Amino acid sequence: MKKILLLVLIPFFGFSQNIDDIFSERGEIYFSFKYKNKIQLNMISDIVSIDHKTNAELAYAYANKSEFADFRQKGISYEIIKKKPLNYINNSKNNWNYYPTYIEYTETMQAFADSFPNICKLHNLGALSSGREILIVQISKNVGVKENEPSFLYTSSMHGDELAGYILSLRLIDHILNGYGNALQITELVDNIDIWINPLANPDGAYYGGNQDVWSATRYNANGVDLNRNYPDPQDGPHPDGNIYQNETNIFMGLADTVNFTISANMHGGAEVCNYPWDTWSNLAADNNWWEYVSHEYADSCQENGGNGYFNYLNDGITNGNDWYEVDGGRQDYMNYFKYCREFTLELSDNKTPNPNALPSLWNANYPSLINYMEQALYGIRGIVTDSITGNPLKAKVEIQSHDIDSSHVYSNLPIGNYHRHLYQGNYNITFSKNGYYSKTINTSVLNNNTNVEDVQLVPFSTTQVEEINPSRKTNTTIDLLARPSNGKSSIQIIKTKGGTIKKQIIIIH
Ligand SMILES: [Zn+2]
Repeated sequence: MKKILLLVLIPFFGFSQNIDDIFSERGEIYFSFKYKNKIQLNMISDIVSIDHKTNAELAYAYANKSEFADFRQKGISYEIIKKKPLNYINNSKNNWNYYPTYIEYTETMQAFADSFPNICKLHNLGALSSGREILIVQISKNVGVKENEPSFLYTSSMHGDELAGYILSLRLIDHILNGYGNALQITELVDNIDIWINPLANPDGAYYGGNQDVWSATRYNANGVDLNRNYPDPQDGPHPDGNIYQNETNIFMGLADTVNFTISANMHGGAEVCNYPWDTWSNLAADNNWWEYVSHEYADSCQENGGNGYFNYLNDGITNGNDWYEVDGGRQDYMNYFKYCREFTLELSDNKTPNPNALPSLWNANYPSLINYMEQALYGIRGIVTDSITGNPLKAKVEIQSHDIDSSHVYSNLPIGNYHRHLYQGNYNITFSKNGYYSKTINTSVLNNNTNVEDVQLVPFSTTQVEEINPSRKTNTTIDLLARPSNGKSSIQIIKTKGGTIKKQIIIIH
């Protein structure tokens, strides 16, 4: 009897329901409400998780118990949309029209690494308290060896019920591994990019109903937290959602601290559109023209290969995030602002968990776009920054004059000293700077889908001893930049006069 009731979509109206009853079965609920304007919607977005299905008239949202209690205080009428377990038939495991069990998923990831050990490594980024693991494969020629390559990331399904990207990511890994040495474009990507793919960022949400299937998947993690509101925010600071950082969030922040991703995408579902920065504020990104270019490239190819109106939502399949609805604590803005990585959000299908039969056509529509976006990692201005004397690689700031704002600059990274600045075509003045070195500005140009290599040597500051000491000075001390006494190799001279005045002089020679 209970099962039959659950299969029916039952709308609830009003304010009278007991909140404990509402949350008796699941840690999250899904509901819709009418909103007056964007200001009101953004205000409510601070309280509950606005869903990707939100349109001009009706907002859709998720909430846990405390979030929903806060929402009800606003006095807005709402309709709870009862979650019905999906009742799909899983087809053949071999044709990718299939959602694996959790164990099959982990075995598939292991099999990728076992079958292609020369180009593929499996990493376990961490286990959750459920015992489920966050897994990622790394794919590259000389995999695991740091080279002069950009690092690229695909991660999917941090919302556990948005699962098209889960299967598409698995299939993409399979496609790349089998294409290496056979397909020219794939071979080029594996030879020249450090590729990372994480098919399932929220395994506890996806397998909420148990490891055997995804039919009862939740958006939130096991603690009832929306992982895409759980990151530090450029505008709202740490903990914008009021929750501690979840294990999943710490795992992905740790990954971004370890691997210097220059470009990435985060796969979701519920709509069919590319969402590019920013989500938290209405400022346009410094590279807004580049974002529009790569987003259109993604959407256009999906429309062409998908047909039937696929991927044409909002502005012809692309949208500025904040234009759609504000998100605070999202990982897109975190990666862009704090990790200097260009990340956008891919909404892959109107159905969050598509019928498995629909997965092959979603693959056909998306895989050329997925490959093309990965190829963007190779484009723009790139090079290696070194010390002009020693030739040692340097971590230097790479900033474009009269262009970079809101943390859009990048850094070269050790141990190689390589930087990768993805840019819309144009002519730019780029300044390379590092403490202890003279800054250097170059003028250079780049075309879309092209690469311009600019290696840069920075000249270090150095010092000599001061030859003449003014006899009127009482003491004359020389220290280095860390204020340690030094024998003539210092760069700061402290002069104390008889009158007691202290003068500091930074001495530099070329
Ligand atoms: Zn999502």
